[in-house]
Amino acid sequence: MKVYLDGKLVEREKAVVSVFDHGLLYGDGVFEGIRIYNKLIFRLKEHLDRLYRSAIAIELKIPMTKADMVKAVVRTVKANNLRDGYVRLVITRGPGDLGLDPRRCKKATIFIIADKIALYPDEFYQKGLAIITARTRRNYPRSLDPRIKSLNYLNNILAKIEAIKSGTDEAIMLTCDDHVAECTGDNIFAVHGGELLTPPVSVGALEGITREAVMALADKVGMKAREKMLKMDDIYGAEEVFLTGTAAEIISVITIDGRKIGTGKPGVKTLSFMKEFKKLTKSDGLRY
Ligand code: PMP
Repeated sequence: MKVYLDGKLVEREKAVVSVFDHGLLYGDGVFEGIRIYNKLIFRLKEHLDRLYRSAIAIELKIPMTKADMVKAVVRTVKANNLRDGYVRLVITRGPGDLGLDPRRCKKATIFIIADKIALYPDEFYQKGLAIITARTRRNYPRSLDPRIKSLNYLNNILAKIEAIKSGTDEAIMLTCDDHVAECTGDNIFAVHGGELLTPPVSVGALEGITREAVMALADKVGMKAREKMLKMDDIYGAEEVFLTGTAAEIISVITIDGRKIGTGKPGVKTLSFMKEFKKLTKSDGLRY
């Protein structure tokens, strides 16, 4: 495997960063996860736009233009002969010294890993997921806005640990005032009274690329999509619930906190969205 590191393609074993890198010392950096479908880099432009937006939000200068970043991603994917896979693109504040001061970090570190992706097993897509509501809250937007896709995922990881300890695979994270935000690595949707509902990102959720794609597909599925502040009761009472994310794509949720959602099987609308999304992954992105 070849990994892109600061302008060079290096072997996996040589792809190492300094222990003084502030990405490691403080989670000071931003990243993206991007899918490749049959030599098409899905929505690369949208991912890079979000990456650069996140970097601006944390006052991190990416020492590369977007056009050159596209080239770096394609170069990495090609070097690994990948047809299908997943790209992890990471920008850290770079090596500095001990202490928070970002001025000590003279140059951002850029690395790109292109690899196969481990999705949920097939049967989870057919049967749906059991999830819980986590006690750990999503970041308060005024302290660290969840719209920034930063390297700081500690509260998501704590919520994931809760999910795993309860024998499930995902967890819903609420805001500090009990609104539904999203899951640890996915956005959440509810089919309710014929409408497709999802929390507004301003509540404290990531502006998911898959979320955006799914909302735009609502017409095709004969639904209206709309952002709405949701409480857990809206979710428990939904006809269908599903999650969206680059790695998970679209996956049905059949129980939450042990309560059955809808019929307890992936719903017809969810299945239609899955079908439409699959079509999109054949055309919407950059071919190489
Ligand atoms: N929320 C969080 C917290 C995430 O980390 C992700 C990405 N894994 C998502 C939502 C989904 O975003 P996207 O569709 O862009 O992958």
